[in-house]
Amino acid sequence: MGNTVLQPDTEFIKDLMAAGAEDVKKCYQCATCSVACELGDGAFPRRQMVAAQWGQKEKLLADPAPWLCFYCGECSKRCPRQANPGETMMALRRYATAQYDWTGLARRMYGSAVWEIGVLLLVAAMVIALFTVPQNFGFGLLRQHPEALQTVRLDLFAPKHVVHRADWIMAIGLALLLLSNALRMFRALTRGKHVPLGVWLACLPGMVADGLTQRRWAKCGESRMHWLRHLVLVTGYGTIFTLVVIFLPWFQVEDTGFHWTSLLGYYSTVVLLGSTGWILLDRMGKRSEMHRFSELSDWLFPVLLFLTALSGIALHIVRLANEPMATYTIYTVHLAIAAPMLIVEVPFGKWAHLLYRPLALYIAAAVNRSEAMDGYKE
Ligand code: SF4
Ligand code: SF4
Repeated sequence: MGNTVLQPDTEFIKDLMAAGAEDVKKCYQCATCSVACELGDGAFPRRQMVAAQWGQKEKLLADPAPWLCFYCGECSKRCPRQANPGETMMALRRYATAQYDWTGLARRMYGSAVWEIGVLLLVAAMVIALFTVPQNFGFGLLRQHPEALQTVRLDLFAPKHVVHRADWIMAIGLALLLLSNALRMFRALTRGKHVPLGVWLACLPGMVADGLTQRRWAKCGESRMHWLRHLVLVTGYGTIFTLVVIFLPWFQVEDTGFHWTSLLGYYSTVVLLGSTGWILLDRMGKRSEMHRFSELSDWLFPVLLFLTALSGIALHIVRLANEPMATYTIYTVHLAIAAPMLIVEVPFGKWAHLLYRPLALYIAAAVNRSEAMDGYKE
């Protein structure tokens, strides 16, 4: 039998290092990280570290294990070589996210700050143009309705039915993009593996629970605070997304009275502002292992969420104060921040992990269960 020569994919190693795994080559396979990790199978993340050092791209892209990691940082703290396995798992997830996206945009955005900022600015510019260029919408329409300059008339500036329809188109478009990328992930992680339908069905409730709560994170590392903060943050933007996409006719109201949607809006604003502000302070101060290394993509999502919440508060204040021009201007700015965040970050950026992670955990659970059943039969 001839010897198999392992050919490292040097381009992959370079790309991975550029995605954050700068120290991967320092690893000397002592396995301290595998002992430190509460979530792995005993060989994780050491096994993935050696695969990364050897540039085994196909093997790593077919491996759901990097998604088991919630970046508690325990492994990186204890690594005697400062090889930073936690950040390497994060880099593997960034790389995988770029590969799953069939449009190629995620790859460009992860590879270039100019692309990432450029795409966000382009969508923001399109939103501003929508409100400033047409004669029959936004600022153009105000010229025909001078009364809307005396008192706030959001129903004229941005009619609810138009905004609501646009929200639905956006939500359906995002869902299709995200699901098509998730399908590519599913194919990559299940290639060559046979899992009976019954096993897929049996593991389904676990995926739903993981998706809603990210519950495994609570077992990871010394502090449950990061998990709890993330969970609360998800409820915040889940609430505002539901208000905007489903309940907009009751949310974007003309009068200044109290509505049931106001309560949910206040909840969401407080949660988004508080938790993203806290996350940003953690990143700025490098307060924990998971915040020591921040790529542009790690900053953009919390920054955009923070600014969305802040501009939402400003909009609410000027609307209650009946300041027409300030209301219309801040409304436009608010959408010029929120729309790029949703359109760019949900399918192509950091947000996508909310779907990819439970899907990877689901596949790993189903494959493990299926293999255990095969072993039992033998
Ligand atoms: S990453 Fe660090 S702790 Fe893990 S095997 Fe390599 S050297 Fe050891
Ligand atoms: S960061 Fe935490 S969860 Fe991730 S591999 Fe290291 S110890 Fe495990």
